[in-house]
Amino acid sequence: MSRKSYVIGFPRIGEQRELKKVLEKFWAKKCSFNEVEKLAKELKVRHWKYQKDAGIEYVSLNDFSLYDNILDTAIMLNAIPKRFKNLKAEELYFSMARGNKDSLAMEMTKWFNTNYHYIVPELSLDDEYKLNASKIINEYKEAKAQGIKAKINLIGPLTFLGLSKRVDNKDCFELLHKILPIYEQLLEEISKLDEVVTVQIDEPIFVKDNEPKLLSLIKPTYDRLSIITNNMKIIVTTYFEHSNEATKVLVNTPIWGIGLDFLYGKENIECLELISKSNKKLIVGLVDGRNIWKNNIQNSLELLSNISKIVDKESLFISSSCSLLHSPITLKYEEKMDENIKTWISYAVEKLDEINIISKIFFEGVNSLNENESKIYEENIQANHNRKTSEIIHDKKVQNIVHNYSKFQRDGKYEDRIKLQKEILKYKDLATTTIGSFPQTPEVRLARSDYKKKSISKDEYETQMKNYIDDCISFQEECGLEILVHGEPERNDMVEYFGEQLKGYGFSQNGWVQSYGSRCVKPPFIYGDISRPKAMTVDWISYAQSKTAKIMKGMLTGPVTILNWSFVRDDKPRDEVSMQIAIALSHEIDDLQKAGIKIIQVDEAAFKEGYPLKKEKIKEYENWAVRDFKIAVSSAKEQTQIHTHMCYSEFNDIIKTIENMDADVISIETARSGNELLKIFKEVGYKQEVGPGVYDIHSPRVPSVEEMVNQIKLLLEVLPKEQLWINPDCGLKTRKWEETKLSLQNMVEAVNYIRKENT
Ligand code: GLN
Ligand code: ZN
Repeated sequence: MSRKSYVIGFPRIGEQRELKKVLEKFWAKKCSFNEVEKLAKELKVRHWKYQKDAGIEYVSLNDFSLYDNILDTAIMLNAIPKRFKNLKAEELYFSMARGNKDSLAMEMTKWFNTNYHYIVPELSLDDEYKLNASKIINEYKEAKAQGIKAKINLIGPLTFLGLSKRVDNKDCFELLHKILPIYEQLLEEISKLDEVVTVQIDEPIFVKDNEPKLLSLIKPTYDRLSIITNNMKIIVTTYFEHSNEATKVLVNTPIWGIGLDFLYGKENIECLELISKSNKKLIVGLVDGRNIWKNNIQNSLELLSNISKIVDKESLFISSSCSLLHSPITLKYEEKMDENIKTWISYAVEKLDEINIISKIFFEGVNSLNENESKIYEENIQANHNRKTSEIIHDKKVQNIVHNYSKFQRDGKYEDRIKLQKEILKYKDLATTTIGSFPQTPEVRLARSDYKKKSISKDEYETQMKNYIDDCISFQEECGLEILVHGEPERNDMVEYFGEQLKGYGFSQNGWVQSYGSRCVKPPFIYGDISRPKAMTVDWISYAQSKTAKIMKGMLTGPVTILNWSFVRDDKPRDEVSMQIAIALSHEIDDLQKAGIKIIQVDEAAFKEGYPLKKEKIKEYENWAVRDFKIAVSSAKEQTQIHTHMCYSEFNDIIKTIENMDADVISIETARSGNELLKIFKEVGYKQEVGPGVYDIHSPRVPSVEEMVNQIKLLLEVLPKEQLWINPDCGLKTRKWEETKLSLQNMVEAVNYIRKENT
């Protein structure tokens, strides 16, 4: 009997980030493209073997990419923007991804609600689509040479179009009739590769709130693609949410199977009846592809048993919820992790074992497990049992505090608070400040890492940090900035810094996940109830305040951002975890205020990232996200001014939610959009103060005084000077001191000029 174990996709960056390293070497012209290709091949083979050795029957192919698989799909279709047309193959690919001396890179954006970013295809009516199937065909042959018969992953035509943009701003779906013939040709080519081939067509766009237009295209598209040849098994896959609307259509097409995510799209259950009637195969996504926790195998078996009451057992396949691209690769390099915690975790390689074991037990019974598999299964039961009761996870004290919590907002109405604050803080209209971090010099990074490695003492480390803070303050004073910051030299990352000091937070050595191209992130993880053993920022901020007569801003990361940039425990609802973090932060704010800090900024850089994919779930997210921001700042007295910062510019849909957060001042990222995006603040009669970034910190360019004067004038057309702050549009840590100094001096000069002109 076949095992029917399946995986949607595997990470490609390499368990030691080998792909990252070779790409960066190649881009720096320190190795040839041959070296890149050689490594790519090694990685592919290694990853196929991982899957095969773990007993996965449906091994993934064409999930590998040198940069991004949407970009690969654009190349496959010859959807190449004009500005890159004359480049040779090798140069072409990376130029599209990263730009070159003549042309800007293509845009990059978030892959649904993950932290992966894809290249946005640019389509035009003049495009001449033609098939370039060599990557896929070659990979199939490479795998076959290794004795591996793989399923071929493709990005579906509707998802490709749905994620693209048209250079003339028209609707991408209009181009479907041009693209579909290429997909048909591709499938024909693929069908020649073997007696039977399985093709997985990813259509995650189906999980969004679909326009009737898109829904109407599903049937004609898949009717056409499924009848190309009769030796092909076509599986259409979605993930990250339920796709019931699309499933209802897909069951009436001749495709062979449907892949659904039963973890993040529990509602998929509603379509089982239909799937069963249509005799489609069902790929059951139940091993979490985007989190790090061990699967609860017994629960998975129970879910499968329920599903098999409706869908014939023989039609089921056991799979990951989505591509394992979104999880780290292997636990084997985690040498420093707490032994207990490590038993609760599975990365991609360990998840393969879980898929295999679940499918073996489900189809063949527990006795079919070999010795090693039995051991893993027993450990799994044990680990899940421990996780339910472990004291390092379950902290009664924290749970009681959350349970009895009653302070949901700060005292006083904004209108009264702001009067009091202006009296005490005495800042002028168009007050100048920065977002928090100053340039992170090599020396600062070295000191932090030396301290971590214990090669310098705590004293030595603190002295170095304090020197940095001193310099940072002197510069700000000389420059004439009004509200100062300490510069954040002690922080490697705005989430990790807090995670390291909160109880309930863990860290990995090698838990890297691809973010885009060669870039990876290593999110910390929340394993248990969160509390704050001691103050986290008070010493640094008090030190900084003691060095200046001006006001020093305290600097914290908000609860929603901390949550959204971590792997979160899956044994508690996210909103409860978020509330625990919020309460811990409220204690920090109280301590800062007691230490004499008068302005505290609570960054919510990732507030928007947490938005659900489906409209129907947005209210619920907004409710608890706003609740928890307000809890975090609830300890602030009326005279303590609360700032927040957000790294985006589009507030049109969420302006009321932002207003409800009730911060006194919000700084935002508008530098690149003039004053257009600010207008919404006026339209809705937004009352709180706003600091729209007046220059773009993502570029080393120093904006001139004149430029910033004009920018400020644009802002003043929309909001009155009493309501405006002047600041850069994000933290300065990625910039160099040189350009930072010049830019901030120009910014202050621009403000002085405007003030003079106004009097
Ligand atoms: N305070 C942080 C900094 O300046 C904010 C960073 C961010 O918004 N991403 O670095
Ligand atoms: Zn920012």
